[in-house]
Amino acid sequence: MKLEKSAELFRKGQKHLVGAVNSPVRAFKSVGGVPVFIDHARGSRIFDVDENEYVDLVLSYGPMILGHRHKKVERSIKKALKKGYTFGASTNKEIKLAKIVCDAFPGMDKVRFVNSGTEAVLSAIRLARAFTGHNKIIKFSGCYHGHSDALLVAAGSGLATLSMPGSKGVPDEAVKNTLIAEFNNLDSVKKHMDAQNDIAAVIIEPIAGNMGVVTPDQAFIDDLRTITRDKGILLIADEVMTGFRSKFGGAQELLGFEADITCLGKVIGGGFPVGAYGARNEIMELVAPLGGMYQAGTLSGNPIAMACGIATLKELKRQNPYKSFDKKAKKIKAMLLESAEKHGIDIQVNHFGSMVNVFFTKQEVTDFKSAQSCNTENFKVFFWQMMEHGVFLPPSQFEAWFLSSALGKADLKKIEQAIDISMAKVAEK
Ligand code: PMP
Repeated sequence: MKLEKSAELFRKGQKHLVGAVNSPVRAFKSVGGVPVFIDHARGSRIFDVDENEYVDLVLSYGPMILGHRHKKVERSIKKALKKGYTFGASTNKEIKLAKIVCDAFPGMDKVRFVNSGTEAVLSAIRLARAFTGHNKIIKFSGCYHGHSDALLVAAGSGLATLSMPGSKGVPDEAVKNTLIAEFNNLDSVKKHMDAQNDIAAVIIEPIAGNMGVVTPDQAFIDDLRTITRDKGILLIADEVMTGFRSKFGGAQELLGFEADITCLGKVIGGGFPVGAYGARNEIMELVAPLGGMYQAGTLSGNPIAMACGIATLKELKRQNPYKSFDKKAKKIKAMLLESAEKHGIDIQVNHFGSMVNVFFTKQEVTDFKSAQSCNTENFKVFFWQMMEHGVFLPPSQFEAWFLSSALGKADLKKIEQAIDISMAKVAEK
C-alpha cells in the first residue's frame, strides 16, 4: 500500500502541529505506521493524498451520516455562504434547526447551540448543577463525554486507545465531584446514591460508542431513569454520537426513555462544528439571558453550520434510513462472525443501528472491563489489512465503525472481501 505522500505530510506536520494532528486518534499511534492524510471524499468513499480509495466507515467519527457531499446539503451550504459567514447576531436558521431538534426529542422544549460535543456536555453539567444546587455527577467508566476537566476520568475514546487513565493538567479538585459507576450495572450507581446526597446528575452515553459499541440492557436504562427521577437527580443523555443516528430521536427514541438534559453534536452539524444541549423549559430557562447560568459562544449558531445541519436533518428525515442501517450492520456483523469462525479467531461483534464494533476477545463485551480484554495486536493486523484492501476504519479497537446511507451493495461487497482477507492475516500472525 502506497502511503508516500501521507508519510511526507506526517513528517512535515510534526514541526508546527502536535504529533502532526489536531485530535490524538488521527495519529494512528495505537496501530502504528503512517496515518493517512485525506485529499477528498464523495458519497461512501474517501480518498487519501496517495490516491488510495477507501469505503469510509469512519465518517469523521459520525457526522457524515448521509455520506460525503450530499447534493442537497452542499447546495444549502453554498447558498448560505453567499450571505456571509458569521454575524454575531441571530438568524432564522438557528430557529429552524432548533425546531427540528426539539421536535425530534420530546424531552426538549428549548435548545442552545454550541460548537462541539465537549461544549455541549460541559454546559449540560453546569446546568444540572445550577438546577439542582448539587455538585456531584456520576459518569460511567468507558463513556467519553469530551475533554472538559471534570469528565476526563475513566474515559473511553482516545484515552482508552492510548491507555491513559486520565489527563495531566486536570487538578484533583476538578474531578473530586465526579463519581464513577459501571455501565450496565445499576448497583454501582445505587452505591453512590446511598453514600451521597449531593448528586446533581448522572451522565450516560445511552448506547456507548467510545469503548467500542456497548449496548445497554433495557432494564438498566429503565431502572436508571426511574431511580434518578425518584431521587430528584437529573439524567443527562449524552447523545453526541447517537442523536439522529440510532434513530431520528436518538437512543432515547430507540430505547423509549426521556432524559432531563440531552447533549447533541456530530450529525446535527452534518460535518460542520455544531453541538447542542436541550431540556424542558423549567431547566433551560436557567440559561442566560433568561436565567443565571452563563454560557456563550462567538461562533455558536454559525449560519453556514446551521444551513448544513438543517439540510442534513431534513434529508435524513426524508430518507428514514434506520431500518436499512440495521440491515447493513447485521450483514457486516454476519460477515465478521463467519470469517472469524472460518479462520479460527475469537471475536465479539456488537452493533446497534448504524454503529458496529468487532472486539478481538472471547468474552462478551458489556462494559469497559470486558472491552479491555481485547487482543489489540490482532486489531492492529486486522486494521492495516482492511486499509490495504480499501476499507477506512477508525484506528482503534475502542472506536465504533459508522455507516452512512450512501453505503451501497458494491461497498458491502468490498467490505466482505476485505474482512475475509484481513481475518486470514490475523490467523497467520
Ligand atoms: N460525547 C460523546 C458521546 C462523544 O462521542 C464525543 C466525541 N466523540 C463527545 C462527547 C465530544 O464531542 P467533540 O469531539 O465534538 O467535542
